[in-house]
Amino acid sequence: MNDSAADIRNKPIRRVVIAGGGTAGWMAAAALSRTLGKVLDITLVESEEIGTVGVGEATIPTLVTFHRLLDIKEQEYMSAVKGTIKLGISFENWLQKGHRYIHSFGMSGKDHWSAGFQHFWQRGRELGIAGGYEDYCFELKAALQDKFAHLPRGGINYAYHMDASLYARFLRTLSQNAGAKRVEGKIVEVETDLESGYITALKLADGSLIEGDLFIDCTGFRALLIGKTLNVGFEDWSHWLFNDSALATQTTAVRDAVPYTRAIAGTAGWQWRIPLQHRVGNGIVYSSRYISDDEARQEFLSSLEGEMIKEPWPVRFRPGQRLKSWYKNCVALGLAGSFIEPLESTTIHLIQRGIVHLLRMFPQVISEPEVDQYNAQLASELEHVRDFVVLHYTLTERRDTPYWRAIAQMDIPPSLRHRIELFRETGSVYRVPDELFAENSWIQVMMGQGVMPKRHHPTADVMSREDLVRFLDEIKRTVDSQVNGLPSHQAYIDQYCPGP
Ligand code: FAD
Repeated sequence: MNDSAADIRNKPIRRVVIAGGGTAGWMAAAALSRTLGKVLDITLVESEEIGTVGVGEATIPTLVTFHRLLDIKEQEYMSAVKGTIKLGISFENWLQKGHRYIHSFGMSGKDHWSAGFQHFWQRGRELGIAGGYEDYCFELKAALQDKFAHLPRGGINYAYHMDASLYARFLRTLSQNAGAKRVEGKIVEVETDLESGYITALKLADGSLIEGDLFIDCTGFRALLIGKTLNVGFEDWSHWLFNDSALATQTTAVRDAVPYTRAIAGTAGWQWRIPLQHRVGNGIVYSSRYISDDEARQEFLSSLEGEMIKEPWPVRFRPGQRLKSWYKNCVALGLAGSFIEPLESTTIHLIQRGIVHLLRMFPQVISEPEVDQYNAQLASELEHVRDFVVLHYTLTERRDTPYWRAIAQMDIPPSLRHRIELFRETGSVYRVPDELFAENSWIQVMMGQGVMPKRHHPTADVMSREDLVRFLDEIKRTVDSQVNGLPSHQAYIDQYCPGP
């Protein structure tokens, strides 16, 4: 290594350059400027001419935590992004046509330290004294009845639906107020140091150079820095996730906003419905191997409700992950780094995880062990999310089109096979720390899609029949009375976020 390469590698990180101003770019700018803004020089480059992907409007509860960390006031945020509340996802036509279940953000029942609630519920079913699994989950019941209110001490677990472009604008103001600089311009070249391969600057169309020590690639599917410049490879997951295309649009609302995202399975993919305060976000996600673009468009447009307020726009994607999210002095966040289709609304969460890990490991100088740790951590979290999304496909009983028949033949990741088999045999789910989806999520989706365990844990047999009746009834009564006390979701949003 010559002196100049060594200099670059050992240089303290002072100037951070974020390439791209979509959700990923502005989330990174907001988090960095609010935490390390006093010691870093942060610049974000974005191009209005190129624009953003324009989707990504359903979230999961971890975003509530992220906003708390950044001291974002919820009412301000929800008013700015025309947000609504999300208590879960309604999966329609997934097990079979006409079937529906909700994967909610709530906990079902009460666990015993030695065994989860599902074991007691299952024994109750065998004895004919338990209701449906949904009767024991507050958030799930509230979602089914279109209700919501904030409760003290985090008494209800929720996430948001939001307008993605308004969110980027909201974070942009917040970041600029915290000292981040914004540069409008098209990146035409990424300059690197010949010896070390480190990125040294972004060259813009007007000839200006944005120099930096650490570069964050948030250029979306283009992956200008990590992919096109540094040539970091991509692991393709299309043998597990068949969809590679989407079409999105926005419509007027024809009914009150429901507090959940709808994911409706179709001929060769599925559609989303995301209700906001001022409109509904709609999209179809499909596999171009099993349906043509014209057929998908036809299926999509014919099922829309309300008036279309934006021409549908197509998105092509490839499911998978970058072999390294962090390589040399470049960290990829968002679509530049990985993509798992939005069935469980996890991409914004994964951006957030990338940012949190980067903040925790923020380097004085870049060191290989830390970079390796970052990459291993993110890869493991991503693979967990991938397994959870594949779960929905592998458990379907649909065989009505070539797409669903091909999915039935699919070989799934061994880690996922193990989890399903374990649940089928024992009714238990074991969670590794840092995994996003807790036991409750796995159970709701597995049972929602027809997997019933063969046995329950012996602890459930220790309770007498009478005690079990009392135990189950008490939980159900508490859930019912809590839900009865809630206002409708729409009424709550109207008073929580009154218009201008
Ligand atoms: P983009 O939004 O594409 O932003 C890229 C930025 O880079 C833009 O500002 C662009 O102008 C800039 N740029 C690119 N090239 C240049 C250049 N040469 N010069 C200057 N600037 C440049 N996630 C969820 O969590 N929930 C969902 O419900 C959800 N739904 C989705 C539905 C679909 C169909 C898809 C494809 C994704 C969905 N996602 C969802 C993912 C979500 O959209 C993204 O995670 C999120 O929008 C972040 O995107 P991004 O910032 O990485 O990329």
